Amino acid sequence: MYCNYCGKVIQDDANHCAYCGTRVGGVMARKKLIRPRVGRKIAGVCAGFAEYLDLDVTVVRLVWLLVGVMTGVGLLSYPIAWIVMPEEPEVAPQPVGQQVTS
Ligand SMILES: [Zn+2]
Repeated sequence: MYCNYCGKVIQDDANHCAYCGTRVGGVMARKKLIRPRVGRKIAGVCAGFAEYLDLDVTVVRLVWLLVGVMTGVGLLSYPIAWIVMPEEPEVAPQPVGQQVTS
């Protein structure tokens, strides 16, 4: 398997590229609504939705906040989504210096 970001050869079952840290594994298979362990602000609910819907996490947070403030639904739905959405399985720690900073 090749990393579709940097093009280096990586393990077939790898979830992240060992060279650039890009998430590569299971893009087709793992399209589940889960709370990722990286990129989360509170519980990863918005990050999970962003990944699931292929949207910018900032857009998801803005929409969630706007809808929540206007309707009051977001304030309730966040903890509900927090409880309902499964957490991403723990992955092996990335080597120092390979962390994706965004
Ligand atoms: Zn890579």
